Amino acid sequence: MFPKIKKPKNLIYLDHAATTPLDTVVKKAMEPFLGEKFGNPSSLYEKGREARAAIDESRMTIARLIGARPSEIIFTAGGTESVNLAIFGVARFANSVGNGFKPFPTRKIAPHLIASAIEHHCVLNSFQALAEEGFKTTLAPVDGDGFINIDKLKAAVRPETIFISVMLANNEIGTIQPVIEIGKWLRGLNHQRLANHLSPILFHTDACQAAGSLDLNVDRLGVDLMSVNGSKIYGPKQTGFLYVRSGVYLKPLIYGGGQEAGLRSGTENVAGIVGLAKAFERAQDEKLRNLEIRKLGHLQGYLIKEIKKKIKGALLNGPDNLKLEVNSQNNNYKSSADTVIRRLPNNVNFTFKGVEGESLMLYLDSYGIAVSTASACSTGTTDPSHVLLAIGRSPDEAKSSIRFSLGKTTTKKDWDYLIYGVA
Ligand SMILES: *Cc1c(COP(=O)(O)O)cnc(C)c1O
Repeated sequence: MFPKIKKPKNLIYLDHAATTPLDTVVKKAMEPFLGEKFGNPSSLYEKGREARAAIDESRMTIARLIGARPSEIIFTAGGTESVNLAIFGVARFANSVGNGFKPFPTRKIAPHLIASAIEHHCVLNSFQALAEEGFKTTLAPVDGDGFINIDKLKAAVRPETIFISVMLANNEIGTIQPVIEIGKWLRGLNHQRLANHLSPILFHTDACQAAGSLDLNVDRLGVDLMSVNGSKIYGPKQTGFLYVRSGVYLKPLIYGGGQEAGLRSGTENVAGIVGLAKAFERAQDEKLRNLEIRKLGHLQGYLIKEIKKKIKGALLNGPDNLKLEVNSQNNNYKSSADTVIRRLPNNVNFTFKGVEGESLMLYLDSYGIAVSTASACSTGTTDPSHVLLAIGRSPDEAKSSIRFSLGKTTTKKDWDYLIYGVA
């Protein structure tokens, strides 16, 4: 299976779902704030005002792109922090005394939170920590393609439920969840709950993987909270934002000088915020995005077809876009005017039965090809991927899996090298 071939001159980077390189345009936008524009945005003199203006402008850009108000954008240090702020913020606010918001005035019942079983570890491990703090949590199961089972999600709701988190797109297998449908259902349900003096259920989506491919208008999605990071959209690492719909109250994770409406104290990462806004602007530019999706979708389809043809027993993990295009009436997401997708166009994930994923990853690395075994975020553990187990793969199959994630620089030549050069 492993013939010797010539190593390509440049690294073939197929791990864009782990992180993306910094766009040169983004880097350029950041540079002044790493140099002469070093002021503290809280300072009232010129140098400070210059930094404050850059933050304000970045906030307005992001708000406009997702159909929100600037006051609804909280800058954070990445996707993990945004998600933690959403989860702990909502849970601890519901439990805090004297905030004027008493979800369960007559009962001493712990608030209950729900997430899908295939969320990123920043959700799952937050849920575990919540349980240790006395909150109740439920993980809702997914089907064989990774789609959340909406009936089981509905069945998991209790009177004391206050929060549901369902990621917009999965980082390992690219499944795009029916967030719009869940949002619609929750709006109806919350009407009934309010009439019955129950707390409304807040809806959060982790959109970190989706920001490069999908429209993130918060009203269209029907979400109250949304997490996005810079690291997956050719922006700087350790940057991100949490969208918080006005009227939704959170407890901060970090206390101090009261920056970011009191929800994220500490001197702002001005260069990072400017870079995040620039990266997000490019990621959400409809014209650029549609071109990118078409290109990546094409390369994705080609790779899936070739791997299935060339490698016996290779199992695709996650939904097959090619097949689903035929049955488009139940698709929720339009990436552009004419493409309907249920899987991120940059994600290909296969189980190669009998091959150890980690060995294959290292083998490909020796040929200058960077891929990932599960999510980079859980590297260092030898546990099989919780996502692959949740869609029904056995632990052995899960450990025999490889994720290829495409990006701006990926070409068909990379595929041909991967398929005909190495395999
Ligand atoms: C990468 C990622 C995160 C974590 O974001 P960081 O910026 O690395 O903290 C969270 N959720 C998803 C779906 C991701 O892909």
